[in-house]
Amino acid sequence: MNQVIEVHNLHVQYGQGEDSVAALQGLNFSISAGERVAIIGRSGSGKSSLLRVLSGLVSPDRGHVRVGDHLIGPDDRPDRAIYGDVGLVFQNYGLVPQLTAMQNVMCGGFHSRHGLASLASFSPSTHRRARRLLMEFGLSDRLHTRASLLSGGEQQRVAIARLLLQHPTVMLLDEPVASLDVHWAKKAVELMSQAGGGSSTLVMVLHDLRMARQFADRVIYLHNGRIIFDGEPDEACCQLETQPNVVAPSSADGTVDETPSAPTVAPPAVVAAECPQGRSCSVPQATSEPDVAPSPNPVADNVGGLWGKTSFYVAVALLAVALYVWAALGVEFSLTRIFSNWEHAVDFGDRMFPPDFSVTSTIAASLIETIQMALIGTTLAAILSLPLAVLAARNISARPLQAGARLILNGLRTVPSIIWGLFFVAIVGLGPFPGILALTFYAAGYLGKFYYEGIESIDPRPLRSLQTVGASPLQRFRWGVFPQVLPLMLGYTLYMFEYNIRAASILGIVGAGGIGFYLYTYINNFQYNRAATALLLLLVVVTIIDTLSSRLRARLMD
Ligand code: ADP
Ligand code: MG
Repeated sequence: MNQVIEVHNLHVQYGQGEDSVAALQGLNFSISAGERVAIIGRSGSGKSSLLRVLSGLVSPDRGHVRVGDHLIGPDDRPDRAIYGDVGLVFQNYGLVPQLTAMQNVMCGGFHSRHGLASLASFSPSTHRRARRLLMEFGLSDRLHTRASLLSGGEQQRVAIARLLLQHPTVMLLDEPVASLDVHWAKKAVELMSQAGGGSSTLVMVLHDLRMARQFADRVIYLHNGRIIFDGEPDEACCQLETQPNVVAPSSADGTVDETPSAPTVAPPAVVAAECPQGRSCSVPQATSEPDVAPSPNPVADNVGGLWGKTSFYVAVALLAVALYVWAALGVEFSLTRIFSNWEHAVDFGDRMFPPDFSVTSTIAASLIETIQMALIGTTLAAILSLPLAVLAARNISARPLQAGARLILNGLRTVPSIIWGLFFVAIVGLGPFPGILALTFYAAGYLGKFYYEGIESIDPRPLRSLQTVGASPLQRFRWGVFPQVLPLMLGYTLYMFEYNIRAASILGIVGAGGIGFYLYTYINNFQYNRAATALLLLLVVVTIIDTLSSRLRARLMD
């Protein structure tokens, strides 16, 4: 028979030295084309690790695996072409939450479409296939709903539809039907089995033997990284009962990308199920978490902990006070100096009132110029900082590039906006143009930092699932990273725009355009009532823009 998967002496170990975990220990088996194999075992038995190796996400430490024509060994990492033949559905579905059901399903076609056009849209035929699949899964009224708004069962159907659009010959699935009712579970397994004219091979991590009997024709039972049973589900049912220490997987385990959890030690709740021969047989079910051993002296523990905490907080408070005293003495901070000279403040205020509104039209024109400067400067800053942020983000860029991009962004931030203004006035002369350049460089330093921190905080799981549909790094960025960070980036950019209006009003001091020029001139010429008009109008504009922009940001971020 045609063996589509061959596993030889497979060993996988995580970590080094004393802390290392042997997840898989010398597995040997092969799977023929068209077989439906259930992988079962308790939490931590190595089920997800096995799927990770078969999908090329993890390399074996020893031994090797062949999936179709692709060899996976300690020194053999498969290239992206493997995802034309192998697909994986993660237990957490791995959908991009901000993309619609249709877009998520269409991502399944990336392994065969790499051109730049794939960064903009999907082909009409991909559209048709995705629509048909979603309709088969009863999701015709959810085609354009964002994945984050779908229920668990709907998301699971979308993930399976994406796998079907990917159309691999080997389908790897981690708890593929956990969130589905019987009707959709049967339908999903049926559609997957029938894909490719019935020749597709299914390897599914399933919750228990009862499910295996329903959906698979072979069971591989893992225990502590070893195979302890490989055969028909009906035989497994009765043979495993006689094995010591064999307990079932918990329903909560099994994501191929979850953080590892220690194996549970509590005995399983045993549920009786019928063997085909009519005998009763124990089907292991979900285990419960182990109890944590209580402390022999909880009261003493509490008192000790409380005392330790109190002295820690007292020490932090004393340190903070010492720090403020040191800083205040250093800068000769003195409230009495303000209050003893209050008549100067009154005099200053007095000269400002009443404001001289005869200069309103001049100031309004310069305010409009200030807004124009902030608009162009912020937009150019966003364009300049985006590639730098992508290069600086730890989760998507190479190390040397990160360091270089961060150094540039730090450099841009180090120079104050007014110094940038002086610099560009010297180069291009007076007027709003040097002001725009100053805002661009100054804001790029900040936006770049905001953007890369946003990129670093995204959920990595959708990216891993895009990897297993064969998406290129650019496709992963466009369809996995970008939708996740876009609302955040727009919010930050708007915030920077607000901020730049204020920054632009200072740049006029060095002759770089905007309202700052008039503010500076009026104050220098002791025309405080005109300066008051400029400040009042600036306040009105800043308040309006702040209000509009924070409303817009709130809508983007929700
Ligand atoms: P299962 O899917 O059966 O619950 P896994 O394959 O996820 O088991 O894990 C097998 C063993 O390897 C567990 O003991 C787990 O703690 C450990 N493990 C899994 N992934 C990692 C990892 N990335 N780093 C360290 N240990 C891991
Ligand atoms: Mg797992």
